[in-house]
Amino acid sequence: MAKQSKSKNSPAYAVETELVIGGRDPQHSYGFVNTPIVRGSTVLSQTVAELEAHAGRYTYGRRGNPTTEGLEDALTQLEGSAGVVLTPSGLSAVSIALLSVLGSGDHLLMVDTAYQPTRRVCDVVLKRYGIETTYYDPLIGADIAGLLRPNTRAIFMESPGSQSLEVQDVPAIVAVAAERGICTLIDNTWATPLFFRPHDAGVDLSIQAGTKYLGGHSDLNIGTISGNARVFGRLKATHGDLGITVAPEDAYLAARGLRTMAVRLARHQESGLAIARWLAGRAEVLRVLHPALPDDPGHSLWKRDFKGASGLFSFILKPVPKAAVDGFLDELELFGLGFSWGGFESLAIPFDCTPYRTATRWQPGGPAIRVHIGLENTDDLIADLTRGFARLATLS
Ligand SMILES: *Cc1c(COP(=O)(O)O)cnc(C)c1O
Repeated sequence: MAKQSKSKNSPAYAVETELVIGGRDPQHSYGFVNTPIVRGSTVLSQTVAELEAHAGRYTYGRRGNPTTEGLEDALTQLEGSAGVVLTPSGLSAVSIALLSVLGSGDHLLMVDTAYQPTRRVCDVVLKRYGIETTYYDPLIGADIAGLLRPNTRAIFMESPGSQSLEVQDVPAIVAVAAERGICTLIDNTWATPLFFRPHDAGVDLSIQAGTKYLGGHSDLNIGTISGNARVFGRLKATHGDLGITVAPEDAYLAARGLRTMAVRLARHQESGLAIARWLAGRAEVLRVLHPALPDDPGHSLWKRDFKGASGLFSFILKPVPKAAVDGFLDELELFGLGFSWGGFESLAIPFDCTPYRTATRWQPGGPAIRVHIGLENTDDLIADLTRGFARLATLS
């Protein structure tokens, strides 16, 4: 008897344990702990009859192999869904999820605070195929009913919002959608299923940029889409028909990330909150945008719906010249200047949502900075930020 939980959707163990055992089968990996990296396109059959019946467990490399399937199984368990498909990046997970539920002539409601490249999927690609997008305020809640049209087929959420961290009332939006049979999707990259389980809230498609916390080491791009029983068939078919595959090396790295995800996220949460509280006490800082802080506008929804907070948040400086903000960021040694996040290392970027938001107005009252708090010692991070603020003072 295999010493593994093979149960789907009936977790025998706590989530931390499932992360460790899910999607591995040492008995069939020559005893090795990890599912090996299986490379290959062709899968051979013993006889014509077997070939013609597609009788083998695997039929063709593009259709999956033990490495990708192991990761999909572990993620299916984590999401509590009917199944998961893998895509080559987080953005392709967004686009394939949308393509799997929308068709020509359909109308899409997209949250205004979505990850910016998601907007281009809508404004450029979906538009070309005759799908119209309306952006909505992330704080709209049940009032989203007022934006529905007869051809509204899908509502896309991202909570908290990219960069500005607004928390959406997901259950209220799902309730409106369910009444009309409208499909709901969420980009759940910030929380991961460890801190928010979209399917438990009734969301049909749950998307993760696995590039972030799943991978966790800033060394791969991968996306995951999880579907409930209502939509998984359509998702799986669209994914297969479009010929989407991921490299087995990337699936392997993502599976390795999965094993430590719970401990990493616990630390990202703890350190993120420590730095957020410290920043909130600084004279240079106007506001900290972090839903786990009690005075954040999204705090009550966050507290109701989420089990935790990850290490990504933003803060607004009191007005200073751009040169002072740049000097602050340039001075930092431990915080790298770079896009993406979710790795073991801390990052910081300046941002401005003004040029691209269309349903809401971004008026933060000062320069905005987004930080990802990594796994470094928080005293070291605070010392680094303190040096940055000293530099900022000389340039203000
Ligand atoms: C990074 C990110 C993505 C895209 O992931 P890639 O792997 O970079 O394509 C999608 N959504 C959110 C919220 C992200 O932060």
